[in-house]
Amino acid sequence: MPDVRAAIIPVTPFQQNCTLLWCEKTKKAAVVDPGGDLDRIREAIRQSGVTVEKIILTHGHIDHAGGAAELREELGIPVEGPHEADRFLLDRLAEQGRNYGFEARPVTPDRWLNEGDTVTVGDLTLDVLHCPGHSPGSVVLVSKDQRFALVGDVLFQGSVGRVDLPGGDGKALIRSIKDKLLPLGDDIAFICGHGPMSTIGQERQSNPFLQGEGLL
Ligand SMILES: [Zn+2]
Ligand SMILES: [Zn+2]
Repeated sequence: MPDVRAAIIPVTPFQQNCTLLWCEKTKKAAVVDPGGDLDRIREAIRQSGVTVEKIILTHGHIDHAGGAAELREELGIPVEGPHEADRFLLDRLAEQGRNYGFEARPVTPDRWLNEGDTVTVGDLTLDVLHCPGHSPGSVVLVSKDQRFALVGDVLFQGSVGRVDLPGGDGKALIRSIKDKLLPLGDDIAFICGHGPMSTIGQERQSNPFLQGEGLL
């Protein structure tokens, strides 16, 4: 069974958790959500001694996708994800950057992801869940073997993704979490786009957005 490792690299003024995820057996890695601050990402790659074989995007917001085009060009590797419903966000990364005062380039992924697809990193296989709500094309990546997930901005420790940005939908977000994430099992640990890690069980029990009907 592949042994999964991760290094979290906070990037951009939004302190987004860019994640270098790798398979310890093959030392092959993916950079998940390179929003910016590529110098820090390059340093993490160097320190871990892995070979990056792809970039994975959980969704199209600038703090997650803003550095993807440059990193793809530099490393000559493909970009996989998010779901195509976030194309409008990825097309407008340069404008998003101007609004927030940092540079970003638009990016068109080499592969859009759909519910039920799988993404590999070395010998590791991640299942794709399409979880709209925070953005229409948000995806969550789950390793059922390793009991581990990357949830982007869908779910946080004690909170959920904001739904007031273009394409946001509060009801869809809660449905995504309740129908797709909670059934994965309480023992699943997850890295989210901002803030500390958590587990599905901790959020099921104590996240205020998931209690009762929990509709935003
Ligand atoms: Zn976001
Ligand atoms: Zn974010």
